[in-house]
Amino acid sequence: MKAGIVGLPNVGKSTLFNCLSNAKAQSANFPFCTIEPNIGVVNVPDHRLEKLESLVNPERVLPATVEIVDIAGLVKGASKGEGLGNQFLGNIRETDAILHVLRCFDDDNVVHVDGNVNPIRDKETIDIELQLKDLETVEKKLEKVKRAAKTGNKEAIKEQDTLLLLKAGLEAGKSVRGIVVNEDDRNDYVTPLQLITDKPVLYVCNVDEASAVSGNKYVDQVKETVKDENAEVLILAVGIEADITELDDYEERQMFLSDIGLDEAGSAKLIRAAYKLLNQQTYFTAGVKEVRAWTIPVGATAPQAAGVIHTDFEKGFIRAEVIAYDDYVTYGSEAKIKEAGKLKVEGKEYIVQDGDVMHFRFNV
Ligand code: GDP
Repeated sequence: MKAGIVGLPNVGKSTLFNCLSNAKAQSANFPFCTIEPNIGVVNVPDHRLEKLESLVNPERVLPATVEIVDIAGLVKGASKGEGLGNQFLGNIRETDAILHVLRCFDDDNVVHVDGNVNPIRDKETIDIELQLKDLETVEKKLEKVKRAAKTGNKEAIKEQDTLLLLKAGLEAGKSVRGIVVNEDDRNDYVTPLQLITDKPVLYVCNVDEASAVSGNKYVDQVKETVKDENAEVLILAVGIEADITELDDYEERQMFLSDIGLDEAGSAKLIRAAYKLLNQQTYFTAGVKEVRAWTIPVGATAPQAAGVIHTDFEKGFIRAEVIAYDDYVTYGSEAKIKEAGKLKVEGKEYIVQDGDVMHFRFNV
């Protein structure tokens, strides 16, 4: 699963990307600096892993990961090929969720492409470009469907109606995720189009150090503007967090964070929020060789969860032995868990719960 970072030039995207992935993307104080889309694989912070590690003492511990893509070059007119243009919109299409970074800090040394700091206008600029790109996709599809609809094909007429609904919404400045379409039509006609503004979004307000905890007037404006979007707004002091990430020593990092008033790095919060945004959850495998967090979509069945480890596990699935995370921690060892009758044997229909510790039995 991939989350894409979008935003106008110079709002702090590549600084955030660096901070998240420790991969060194370019960061410089002028527009169009990050030209190549940068992809980073980021560990999902999870305290439960540390707890399991202390109980099992494995040789290694592997956390869950999310892929983050830094998408640069979005400017006014991008949908028509302005700036570094259209190719970036293609990069966004390939992501599953969007992290929209908004500049909410004043700093005369950092040039703003539109002259002054105004996150609401910035958000609108980006939204419009994304909506225009979606409009193009919808119109292309509409051309194709029209012909079949003219012949009276019922299916095609239904699809045409849905596309016209999208078209009208986009033209009115709405994002697809905010356009009301009934569930069946959405599944049949909207989802396959992979429209950019249909992807779930999270707003990241990049603030100055002093506003890291409670935000500032810009953040308040953003919250007010998106209050009907059902989207999370995260406050992050990207610049200072990037500095803190540079520190090697964990204790030292925690000290700096608590100086600003934070109990954990905002980047950790962001990664977890992105994971949630992507509708993913975690189950664990815990053995002496390895304790590992695996990523599955919310609602996945036991065989599907097994399939994340290996497709053969899914094909040959027989049953799963499941221990709820809390029970694992309460009893401390598999022997005691069994004694207490807390190890459950589950079949094909079992819906995996977040935090389950699992063993799979399968045929090869
Ligand atoms: P991008 O074009 O959105 O990827 O922006 P960059 O991450 O390259 O940042 C542009 C400039 O803004 C760089 O000089 C950064 O050091 C600076 N910058 C990024 N985040 C912050 C911040 O939170 N506060 C301040 N004062 N400067 C920042």
